[in-house]
Amino acid sequence: MRTIEHWINGAATSAGSTRTGPVWNPATGQQQAEVLLAEPSDVDNAVAAAAKAFESWSNSSLTQRMRVMFAFRELLMRHEDELARLVSAEHGKVVDDARGEIVRGREVVEYACGIAEVLKGSFSDQVSRDVDVHSFRQPLGVCAGISPFNFPIMVPLWMHPIAIAAGNTFVLKPSERDPSASNRIAELYAEAGLPDGVFNVVHGDKVAVDAILDHPDVAAVSFVGSTPIAKYVHERATAAGKRVQALGGAKNHAVVLPDADLEFAANHLTAAAFGSAGQRCMAVSVGVAVGEAGDALVDVLARKAREVRIGPGDDPSSEMGPLVTQAARQRVENAVARGAEQGATVVVDGRGHTVPGHESGFFVGPSVLDHVTPAMDAYREEIFGPVLSVVRADTVDEAINIINANPYGNGTAIFTSSGAAARRFQREVKVGMIGVNVPIPVPMSFYSFGGWKDSLIGDSPIHGPEGVRFYTRAKVVTSRWPHVNRSVEAAFHFPTS
Ligand code: NAD
Repeated sequence: MRTIEHWINGAATSAGSTRTGPVWNPATGQQQAEVLLAEPSDVDNAVAAAAKAFESWSNSSLTQRMRVMFAFRELLMRHEDELARLVSAEHGKVVDDARGEIVRGREVVEYACGIAEVLKGSFSDQVSRDVDVHSFRQPLGVCAGISPFNFPIMVPLWMHPIAIAAGNTFVLKPSERDPSASNRIAELYAEAGLPDGVFNVVHGDKVAVDAILDHPDVAAVSFVGSTPIAKYVHERATAAGKRVQALGGAKNHAVVLPDADLEFAANHLTAAAFGSAGQRCMAVSVGVAVGEAGDALVDVLARKAREVRIGPGDDPSSEMGPLVTQAARQRVENAVARGAEQGATVVVDGRGHTVPGHESGFFVGPSVLDHVTPAMDAYREEIFGPVLSVVRADTVDEAINIINANPYGNGTAIFTSSGAAARRFQREVKVGMIGVNVPIPVPMSFYSFGGWKDSLIGDSPIHGPEGVRFYTRAKVVTSRWPHVNRSVEAAFHFPTS
């Protein structure tokens, strides 16, 4: 059985770990590897290596750091296919979808290639006689990232390229369910010329996470994952005096107005609900059908859901792969069952789906539940699987009220041909990322990414300008360098211009 080790100080190592966790092949249901689960002493080693590397890396020139980022970007492009297959093999998503996450993540590296531009400070000449003021930003030290299973390459890339380009060093604790991609990223960084200790990977579970959250030499923690853990991480790490960004879960609504092109809307809803088997933080899990859009929309959605091609991620004809684990599969099937018990109409039932030749894989088919109400579990819980719940609303106001009453606020979308309705929607809805005739507002590296309410704990969205701010802190310097006028005594009163 292959063992996936940590990556500390420029080399793979098992450090002091003896515990392991299984890594499955979701398409076959077989265990394909085991991953080491770190002890607190392993986290200590990684943080010590990162702290040592910070001494020189934080003093390296901006051009040196950017050169490493440019080289890293080239390697991400050269190895895109290999990385996509690695992700697909452990996560289950189809290879093309994995390629998409690599491209989106690489765009953050491209943003980091221009770090010199975004790190520029400001300068005010002659704020007082012969006195100038300037500001500049410095790195924090050792930063840590804790990431979810659903984007094993993209989500860590939201974090470490910016942290590292800004002069920090980094310890990543990826999801233990699909850990291999992070080790390959570490090797590519080394090949790009990143010095040992600047980027480290520690695999593990809660033990490793807690050791990071409590570690006195970790300055900042970036977390992306489910809301309960985001809250926990935020509370524990801020209590330990760290800077924290914590992105949580989602329940994303797509509103379809009667004036929308139903075929177009249903096409996009289907892809956004069932792509990656619904395991995306920007997946559309609730369709809000307004007025007479309702029955017609559900008919088209049902037809399209039945047409989704389900199969292993490495089969080019598959549109949707399996879920990540057997437990995830069970959770999704239970959610559909509870929906039926609580009064939803199961229009398309994906339970018990099998793929010939892959009978033990963690496959579930797409499900469409109609007449779901906000009181039902299927609506209240983040199912994180290929289940689209349709809620009926009489008016656009009712649709907006439903969305605003939901505790999550990650993404939402509206499908309409009315500019006025779209404008009202984007102004009134309490959600961080909004699509207009676009189902999944994808993360663009030059904007920051983050929801509202329970989808983002604390106040820091990720990557883009907010990412640069998060991984640096400002200094403001007031200086006087002209010849000193010796005839003027230093005054004890508060100086005025
Ligand atoms: P998760 O919260 O279970 O795990 C995330 C990370 O936290 C993993 O590294 C895991 O090892 C660690 N962890 C899990 N339980 C822990 C505990 N009790 N104590 C300490 N650490 C713990 O999330 P997941 O299932 O890997 O990912 C799916 C979730 O991530 C969904 O809720 C999804 O919406 C969310 N997500 C959000 C975004 C976003 O941008 N808001 C992006 C991607 C995923």
